[in-house]
Amino acid sequence: MSNSKRVLIVGGGIGGLSAAIGLHNKGIAVEVIERSVDWTVYHVGIIVQANFVRALAQLGLADDAIKAGFPYKGVRFLGKDGSVVAVLPGDPDVAQGYPSDLGLTRPALHKVLTDRVKALGIPVRLGVSYESIDDQGDHVKVHCSDGSEGSYDLVIAADGNYSKIRTMLFPDTPAPQFTGQGVWRYNLPRPEGMEWAEIYLGKDGGKAGYVPLTKETLYVLAVFEEPGNPRFPRDKLAEEFRKRLDGYGGPLGQFRDMIVDPELVVYRPLETCMMPAPWYKGRVVLIGDAAHSTTPHLGQGAAMAVEDAVVLSEELAKPGAAIEQALEGYMRRRFDRANLIGQSSIKLGHLEMHPDEVGDPVEITDNIRKMLAEPI
Ligand SMILES: Cc1cc2nc3c(=O)[nH]c(=O)nc-3n(C[C@H](O)[C@H](O)[C@H](O)COP(=O)(O)OP(=O)(O)OC[C@H]3O[C@@H](n4cnc5c(N)ncnc54)[C@H](O)[C@@H]3O)c2cc1C
Repeated sequence: MSNSKRVLIVGGGIGGLSAAIGLHNKGIAVEVIERSVDWTVYHVGIIVQANFVRALAQLGLADDAIKAGFPYKGVRFLGKDGSVVAVLPGDPDVAQGYPSDLGLTRPALHKVLTDRVKALGIPVRLGVSYESIDDQGDHVKVHCSDGSEGSYDLVIAADGNYSKIRTMLFPDTPAPQFTGQGVWRYNLPRPEGMEWAEIYLGKDGGKAGYVPLTKETLYVLAVFEEPGNPRFPRDKLAEEFRKRLDGYGGPLGQFRDMIVDPELVVYRPLETCMMPAPWYKGRVVLIGDAAHSTTPHLGQGAAMAVEDAVVLSEELAKPGAAIEQALEGYMRRRFDRANLIGQSSIKLGHLEMHPDEVGDPVEITDNIRKMLAEPI
């Protein structure tokens, strides 16, 4: 299949690389620029679910991802003492027969994506950003930091949560806002037989749990209220993480005492930005976190980025589709879904910080998992 459009993607992360593969698969000429020179990603785990696996299957990447990750059975919600409150099993039908809930390290996912991009021969220029993006109506002229100049039918901004292209297109958009919580993560050995993600509720300000990541590892995570958006000295990170896990029983109580090396703690304040529609102006379009960064409450940031890539590739490949029509189709299929994820994630965090307000986190999560099963 061939299609005469020529596309530049700014950002070689999860969304950008998925879009590059999706467009290439549809016969569209695509190039990527990535500002990082070594193109590495930090070592955290990511939680992904059936809709992510299905979107990867649509890109032809599900087998590779399953091999690189650790399929587990679903999510169990527990009380503070470790007793089971609710069970949400994964649904393999949604994942087109693949396992539905998958633990993956961020580097493992990056390798799946970069290996495929290299195998397909998609041009990627590392250590390169753009100097200017000039939309001339019928094409976009881009000057890059390596001195090159190119003309494209479309520029895809996959430049992440702090997207400079978003600010350039929509200068009135506020920077990502702190939600009031931060997320803590730490990798540990996975005990034999641990095959569920388990999330402990019942503590004011947040929740905590663990997720299988590989056959050998799991990661402990906690999302907690962090008044004033503090910055912690690196040498205090393990101690601070352990404090947030005080009072939990079950395996989480045991894992807490194994969090000892501050260098291995990953802490991030939760800062999100949900763009109103449309996520494009002229011939420049935002995907992934650049358009809709969310909190980890539903584990959907990566899935939304990959789904964006799948849908945008499909819309651009429709026979005779003009760029504007394709971008309208992309918005029609993406806005409500990504917006619901963003709003529901914020709501879950809000309920954790305001436990007196009405709302059941298990029910919200269950409803969203069912909604996500619907085709994109
Ligand atoms: C600690 C942490 C844990 C997370 N855990 C989960 C999880 O468990 N499950 C989940 O689904 N999601 C998770 N997420 C969210 C998920 O990582 C993001 O939603 C996802 O990475 C979005 O993909 P993206 O391609 O839009 O952005 P990114 O993956 O951030 O990629 C953006 C890329 O653009 C490049 N770039 C930026 N500016 C330029 C420029 N000017 N020129 C060239 N290149 C540029 C960057 O170097 C980067 O490579 C987590 C995020 C964090 C921070």
